[in-house]
Amino acid sequence: MPARTGDEYIAGLRENSPELYLQGERVKDPTTHPGLRNGVHTLARLYDLQHDPDLRDAMTYVSPSSGDRVGLSFITPQSQGDLERRNTMMTHWARVSCGMMGRTPDFLNVSFMAMAAAGEYFARNRPEFQHNVRAYYEYVRENDLVLTHTLINLQRSRLPSGSGLEDTTDVALSVVKETDGGIVVNGARVLATLPIADEIAVYPARSHRLPGDAAAPTSFAFALPCNTPGLKFLCRESFDLQRSRFDHPLGSRFEEMDAIAFFDNVLVPWERVFLLGDVDLCNNMSIKTRQYVHSGHQVVTKNVVKCEFVLGLANLMVQTLGSGQLPQVHQMLAEIIENLEVTKACLRTAEVDAEIDEWGVMSPAETPLMVARQLFMRMYPRMAEILHLLGSSSLMALPTEADLSGPLAAEIHRYLETDTASAEDRVRLFRLAWDTCCSAFASRQVLYERFFQGDQVRNAFLLNSLYDKQPMTDRVRAFLEE
Ligand SMILES: Cc1cc2nc3c(=O)[nH]c(=O)nc-3n(C[C@H](O)[C@H](O)[C@H](O)COP(=O)(O)OP(=O)(O)OC[C@H]3O[C@@H](n4cnc5c(N)ncnc54)[C@H](O)[C@@H]3O)c2cc1C
Repeated sequence: MPARTGDEYIAGLRENSPELYLQGERVKDPTTHPGLRNGVHTLARLYDLQHDPDLRDAMTYVSPSSGDRVGLSFITPQSQGDLERRNTMMTHWARVSCGMMGRTPDFLNVSFMAMAAAGEYFARNRPEFQHNVRAYYEYVRENDLVLTHTLINLQRSRLPSGSGLEDTTDVALSVVKETDGGIVVNGARVLATLPIADEIAVYPARSHRLPGDAAAPTSFAFALPCNTPGLKFLCRESFDLQRSRFDHPLGSRFEEMDAIAFFDNVLVPWERVFLLGDVDLCNNMSIKTRQYVHSGHQVVTKNVVKCEFVLGLANLMVQTLGSGQLPQVHQMLAEIIENLEVTKACLRTAEVDAEIDEWGVMSPAETPLMVARQLFMRMYPRMAEILHLLGSSSLMALPTEADLSGPLAAEIHRYLETDTASAEDRVRLFRLAWDTCCSAFASRQVLYERFFQGDQVRNAFLLNSLYDKQPMTDRVRAFLEE
């Protein structure tokens, strides 16, 4: 089947709705639910872009198995040119949401491409797992499915264990039984961003390492349809408050939602199991298969788009307020430019220094992407702070759309005009700034960037452990001995 349209995604989600719960109620239909439907419709726009006659070659490629045109984020890169094409495709998708929907489907499409290409890694666990992961990737690619994923176990306690590794507890998602039909899993996982999806992938987090053999029951990788019996998603409250695009320009469009996934004795058919019971293979899966590097390519591409959006927004705020001559304003805009250029440079380096990996895939260079991801956890909260500092009271002296034609309309139009903008343009702009740095939607963006890819401490531990510091150390030793 060729790349889907938006309508096909919506119809699929309606027909196979996951069991979603929101504010104490079961969601009957996520495609019409007021807290979810606008996010669903934005995702549908992404799928429609695949059918834009001007973008067909940028968004799709010819499937090696069916000959259909399928989404370009599924491509198995063979050259740096393929990585650049993939970057262009992902940029088109990220720009639709100004980088505010982090979990567009390309994130997991590139992940499963990498896992499938590294099928032999999964065969080390059980020979049939290689076939399973490859067949699954092809199934997702050929049906253009939307995936969510959940990697982290809830924890009863955060006391550091003696090993410095994660402790698993009885709340962790665990295999409770193996049957002829598959494995039965029970427990909970956080967080499933984008539960408005067709399928859920469950695999080990690179950042949260499983401790020793005792963790075997919690060590696995698999995928399931989101509407599998026994699988329930508890959504947080929606930040789409059903306000107008003028009032809540981001929240009214880009609510991707986050959910806890509860697995109540869920049967995972054998053909959907990719890893089982091997703690080492699970702990090393993301790094060895290069899944993390390919998802990093998507993340950093999105980060460039998000930086560009913040820079454009900040510049417009400054122009509107007439604060461009202030030295501290120059400094803050320069800081956003630095963030953008460093992020772009890391992305470019990762593509230029890409190499064919042991699985035959053109794989972006790992370190620049790890560095860019880690830096963005600090950059994004700081950029939200810069928007606060630039906007100040203008982020609160902020009428709504209704006020513009309400009883105080004359006062608003007279007093909120600036030298460069009408009152209406100023309000429109600052409502966008508010939704980027002050609203509940904005606050979730900051939390998302801080944590969605693991926390800084665990990631720093991995970066430092993986980075080859020996050549530099040897040089200093040699200097000392001169
Ligand atoms: C908005 C949002 C969306 C997300 N989406 C997804 C998703 O789609 N899929 C998914 O799988 N996950 C998702 N996550 C979860 C994310 O992977 C985790 O939040 C992240 O890995 C940190 O784990 P934690 O939340 O359990 O933090 P905690 O373990 O509670 O850590 C909290 C703090 O304590 C410190 N800490 C606690 N224990 C340890 C320890 N043992 N070693 C070192 N430091 C420790 C950490 O440094 C951290 O700062 C999302 C998170 C957020 C906030």
